Amino acid sequence: MTHLGKEPHEELIMTDARLKKVERLFDSVNREHFHGEIKRPICRLSNRMKSRAGQVNLIRWEMIISVPYHDRYGWDGELENTTKHEVIHLFLRQKRKPSGHNKRFKEIANRIGAPYYCKAMPKRPYRYIFECPNCKREYKARKWIGGRYSCGKCSDGRFDRNYVLTLKERLS
Ligand SMILES: [Zn+2]
Ligand SMILES: [Zn+2]
Repeated sequence: MTHLGKEPHEELIMTDARLKKVERLFDSVNREHFHGEIKRPICRLSNRMKSRAGQVNLIRWEMIISVPYHDRYGWDGELENTTKHEVIHLFLRQKRKPSGHNKRFKEIANRIGAPYYCKAMPKRPYRYIFECPNCKREYKARKWIGGRYSCGKCSDGRFDRNYVLTLKERLS
């Protein structure tokens, strides 16, 4: 028997299980708080969504759940919070009401115990300070950007190699 790497296989199963969980959560929130009236969105997981917990696409009728966020804050209570929050956006839209974070959104959030805001993901710290060779303006960066950016103040709206930022300091 060929020994297949174990981890990718487990990851596949896990991701699928999480997606099923999101769908089940949607159904139960919908049933419990909205009489099952809301049309079920396409549920998706995103590995790239780094700064927020979830998102809805009201055109494509999708609910997208951040993997990094819930890896950090948990796939149980926090996932329920996220789902409730996103479902309110869908509900308002389906009712043809303004679907942003407005007063009505807040009322529903309070009623069903959904968070109005989600927890912010901590950002990676700044690691470098670059500067413009011309005006000496400083730019902080979280990752290496050497050679790829020119000073926004000195360049005329487009990349200008005369004003390519240079490293000033490496932060630890
Ligand atoms: Zn929202
Ligand atoms: Zn400059």
